[in-house]
Amino acid sequence: MECRIISNGMMCSNIDYVKKLKNSGLSLIHFSLYSHIQKVHDFLTDTPGSYSKLLQSIQNALKLGIRVQLNCVINKYNQDHLDKTVRCIAKIFPQIQHFVWNNLDPLMMRKTDVALSTLPDFDIASRSLVEAMSFLERNDKTFRVERLPICFMKGFEWASTETRKIVKDEERIVHFLDDRIITRQLGKYWTHDKLEECKECDLSPICSGVYEREKYYNYVKVVPQKVTKQELENIILKIKS
Ligand code: SF4
Repeated sequence: MECRIISNGMMCSNIDYVKKLKNSGLSLIHFSLYSHIQKVHDFLTDTPGSYSKLLQSIQNALKLGIRVQLNCVINKYNQDHLDKTVRCIAKIFPQIQHFVWNNLDPLMMRKTDVALSTLPDFDIASRSLVEAMSFLERNDKTFRVERLPICFMKGFEWASTETRKIVKDEERIVHFLDDRIITRQLGKYWTHDKLEECKECDLSPICSGVYEREKYYNYVKVVPQKVTKQELENIILKIKS
């Protein structure tokens, strides 16, 4: 099994620490990046200097031959420049091949007014996300998107983590360092809330719907999709290929 970690890029800015990780068998680090705009990243991490440390961490990992992938949480403060962020990072670190966007998980954030104000506008995020995915596809990079209904990622439905799990009927095992210890995410985990409008949507069989629709994402207006059977089949084939 490949040994990997998710990191905010603080500790790894110390190359001796990264060497220790590498010598312990680490071969892949997912670094969390919010934005290529230093001010935005530092604001969202609530840690001045965190953007610079993150860049140093990425550089350290790559220098030591550790593969790097980037995770980005979509939120109100980066929703309009997701494309610019990947363009910038791909230019600085062309070695990075894989990018992951996670739509903000309200269950994982602090329940303060400031935290709640970071919930994204799906329409705005959709525009820059589709741009970002187009850019990565043109440059032979790979990517996935989690917790975003597929009506907001037109043309890239196959890149939805939930849709892929539904189509492939897969499970995911996550080892947490907190009380959850090991979580097995089975088929049911990948299905969120469907709305009345979803009944009219041709993509409904492969869409997980809206995550946390009842409590947090109740403002989201989904857009039922009209696709032919062949178009639906093409998405499924692309996922299975
Ligand atoms: S309308 Fe509903 S079923 Fe269709 S893509 Fe959007 S969330 Fe999914």
